[in-house]
Amino acid sequence: PAPIVRRVQIGDGYDVIVEWGGLERLGSYLSHLQLPPRVFVITDSNIGPFYAEKVTQNLLAAGFEPQVLTIPAGEASKSQTQLNKIYDWLLEQRAERREALIALGGGVIGDMVGFAAASYLRGVPLIQIPTSLLAQVDSAIGGKTGINHPKGKNLIGAFYHPRLVLADPSTLLTLPERSRTEGWAEIVKYGIILDTELFALLEAHAETLRDFSHPPVALLCQIIARSIDLKVAMIEEDEREQGRRAILNYGHTVGHALENASGYGEWLHGEAVSLGMVAAATMAQEAGMLAASDVQRQNHLLAALGLPISYTGSVQAQEILSTMLLDKKVVGKRIRWIMPTRIGEVVITPMPDDLVTRVIKAFFA
Ligand code: NAD
Ligand code: ZN
Repeated sequence: PAPIVRRVQIGDGYDVIVEWGGLERLGSYLSHLQLPPRVFVITDSNIGPFYAEKVTQNLLAAGFEPQVLTIPAGEASKSQTQLNKIYDWLLEQRAERREALIALGGGVIGDMVGFAAASYLRGVPLIQIPTSLLAQVDSAIGGKTGINHPKGKNLIGAFYHPRLVLADPSTLLTLPERSRTEGWAEIVKYGIILDTELFALLEAHAETLRDFSHPPVALLCQIIARSIDLKVAMIEEDEREQGRRAILNYGHTVGHALENASGYGEWLHGEAVSLGMVAAATMAQEAGMLAASDVQRQNHLLAALGLPISYTGSVQAQEILSTMLLDKKVVGKRIRWIMPTRIGEVVITPMPDDLVTRVIKAFFA
C-alpha cells in the first residue's frame, strides 16, 4: 500500500509517515530535511541486530554518514546513566547543533533519545523510527520525551517534537508476541474514547490481527495510521495536556497504579491499561453512565486481541486505591476519571469515593 502521511501542525510542522517497508526509504525521506550528512542512530540490543545494518546501508546509499550507538534493551536503560552515555558519545564525536539523532526502537529508545535530542546543545534535530506497536501508535507521537528516576517513571523530561516520524509496520514482524499484544490496548483505547468506527474495525478483524502469521498489511497500516491521526488531533488541540488531552489517559489511572503496586515487572504497560479500562468501564456502568452491553463489547474485544480482562495476582485492592492518589496527574487529591458514556465517547469527571472503592475491591479481590 501507498505511504500514509499525516502532517502535524505544531511548531514548523512535521510529517508522520506510516509505510510498510518504509525503512527502505529512510534515506530518501531524510534527504528532504536539509540535514548535514552525519547522523547519529541510537538503538537497543534487541532491535539493532535486526535493523541497524539495514538502516546504515540505506543511509549510506543516500549520501549520509551514519554513526550507530547500541544501548542494552529494557526499561532499566531509560536512566540517567544511559543518557550520559549518549551525551558522552555525541561529545566524543563533536556532534553539532544541526546534526540529527535518529531513535530506532520502541518507547524506551524513543523517550530517551528524544530527551537527549531535546537537551544536547539545547536541542538538535530528532527523527523517530518507532519499531514497537506501542511506540508507533503512542509513544513516538506527541512530543513527550524523558527518562526514569529512582523515585518514579518518566519524572525527568521535556516536550520536544521530532522533524519526522517514520513508522514501518513491517518491523512488527520481529517484535515478540507479548509486546505486540500489549500495543493493542492503546489502539482499543483510541476506539473507546474517540472512534466507534475504529472500534468496529478492530472487532471485525480481531482474529486476523491477533494471529499475525499472515499479517494483514493494508489493514494494519490503516489501523496504525488512524490511531496516530487520533492522537495527533488531540495533541494539536492540547499540546501540554492542560485539558482534553487527558482523555488519552483512559484506563491509565488504575493501570498505572497496578504497574506501580506490582513493581513494573509482572504486567506490561498495555496489559495493565487493559485491566484499567475494564475497571473504569465497570465504574461507568455502576454509575449508570454506560450500558452493560458496551462494557461487554469492550471487554470482549480486549480478550479477542489477547489482552487480560480479569485480575490474577497478589496486589491488594487497598494498594491500588492508595497508589492511585499518588499519581503525578492527580491534582488536589481528586482523581479526574475518564469515563466512557458509549463506544467512541468519554467524559472527564470525578467519581464518588464509595463507588470507586467498591469496584476496585471487587476487581482486585
Ligand atoms: P521497549 O522500547 O522496551 O520495547 C519493548 C521490547 O521490544 C524491548 O525489549 C525492545 O528491545 C523490543 N523491540 C522493540 N521493537 C522491536 C522489533 N521491531 N523487533 C524486535 N524487538 C523489538 O518498550 P515499548 O513498549 O516500545 O515502550 C515502552 C516505553 O514507552 C516506556 O518506557 C513508556 O514509559 C514509554 N511511553 C512513552 C509515551 C510517550 O508519550 N512518550 C507513551 C507511552 C509509553
Ligand atoms: Zn499508555
